[in-house]
Amino acid sequence: MSPASSTGPNAPDAHAHGVPGENDEVFRLWNIGDPASPVSENCFFSAGIHPWDAGKYELAAFVPLFDSPRCLAIGECGLDRTADAALPLQMKVFEAQIVEAVRRGKPLVIHCVRCFPELLRLKAAQNDDAPAWVIHGFRGTKRKAFDLLDAGCVLSFGAGLLRDAGNMEYFAEIPPDRILIETDESPELFGRILAEAAAMHLLSPSEFASIVRTNFKRIFRHDPVRT
Ligand SMILES: [Zn+2]
Repeated sequence: MSPASSTGPNAPDAHAHGVPGENDEVFRLWNIGDPASPVSENCFFSAGIHPWDAGKYELAAFVPLFDSPRCLAIGECGLDRTADAALPLQMKVFEAQIVEAVRRGKPLVIHCVRCFPELLRLKAAQNDDAPAWVIHGFRGTKRKAFDLLDAGCVLSFGAGLLRDAGNMEYFAEIPPDRILIETDESPELFGRILAEAAAMHLLSPSEFASIVRTNFKRIFRHDPVRT
């Protein structure tokens, strides 16, 4: 049995791109970055303007998606120093999405590349009871991880955990209740990422899956059961 099937539908994938598969037994939070893209029935999603697309879309076009009960989070959105769009414009688009998230009490799924000081400043300006900030596809040093955790963020780990396991030994020190697992562009890696994460925490994949499911339920206010 593959790790994915042995953990069954209990472990959610917190961030995925692509088209929901008919026989996919993993619950995934699909990312919608284009307001014109069709949304499959029964699919739960996050929606928002990626920093690479700052200036490309009007935020107003996303409002019907934000208001959908199937929209569990705003994003992915955020800041990226390597993107073509100018940082002040990215900042404006991101801040507008923070406002949309707070207004609806929905968490943010955040893409952040080389802008962590700016991100931490924005986070510090939020109320303690503001919706969660999920840092998607987190990779980086222990210092960076713990700065984000200290600021109250949740870290979502993906394929970087497989590639950088040697550099991310601190993963075992991250409080399990602040971890999500995601596949981003590689849905087929879900079982491997979950198994690696579980092993680093000295847990079985099913034990780890149940922790991740509890976290998902608390953060996104939705029980991740495949329907
Ligand atoms: Zn993504």
